[in-house]
Amino acid sequence: MSTEPRWKRIVLKLSGEALAGAGSGPGRTIDADIVRQIASEIVDVKTMGVDIAVVVGGGNIWRGIAGASKGMDQVQSDHMGILATVINGLALQDALEQLGQATRVQTGMEMSKVAEPYIRRRAIRHLEKGRVVIFAGGTGNPYFTTDTAAALRAAEIEADVILKGTGVDGVYTADPKKDPTATRYDEIGYLDALNQGLAVMDSTAITFCMDQKLPIVVFELLKAGNIRSVLEGAPVGTLVR
Ligand code: UDP
Repeated sequence: MSTEPRWKRIVLKLSGEALAGAGSGPGRTIDADIVRQIASEIVDVKTMGVDIAVVVGGGNIWRGIAGASKGMDQVQSDHMGILATVINGLALQDALEQLGQATRVQTGMEMSKVAEPYIRRRAIRHLEKGRVVIFAGGTGNPYFTTDTAAALRAAEIEADVILKGTGVDGVYTADPKKDPTATRYDEIGYLDALNQGLAVMDSTAITFCMDQKLPIVVFELLKAGNIRSVLEGAPVGTLVR
């Protein structure tokens, strides 16, 4: 296995639920141990000479659809979700900085007391200086998701790939929790993933990645060393391209 990383600039997409760890409920919104584990893996991968931007979700705290399905105004509810992603972004920043990793948070929706606004050139400059850039606040617009934000930011900063960390070790022919005969794809095309309704990313994000020819690796986030393994080219997860 080569030590030269497979991709030089990555966007790591962390769902909010990844930060909550197992179980949810009061006090489990953000699991500090898990955030520390993810942060230390990011710091480890940084030593490979990879530029890392992280897009954080907010589903552990709030999802727009949850409010909308109970009669809330969708835009209002999405704004709450956007704020949730900023909470997660700040938690990850704290964990990275405690490990000595220089970090900047940029938000898609301005919140200048706590983070920089998203400015593309500035984000790229941070990466060039070895900082980890955390993109919080999604796209800054309602009706979108942080998967789409990951795709958008990846294209803007000219990332080579999106690494989507999930609870399962890739994309399966069916839900492996429900169907024991389900098998994992090593690789799958964007259109096949879309047409088969496989759990990769939402359709807006996949379509965007397809148009931009941005590969996505879906992999198990919390298996120790997995982000490094993906970058070393080990047969981990599913490559969508
Ligand atoms: N959101 C939004 N616009 C965006 C990104 C996120 O309105 O560009 C809102 C939306 O309500 C979403 C919530 O923020 O449900 C949390 O983001 P997401 O569901 O993508 O988080 P994840 O599933 O990754 O934890």
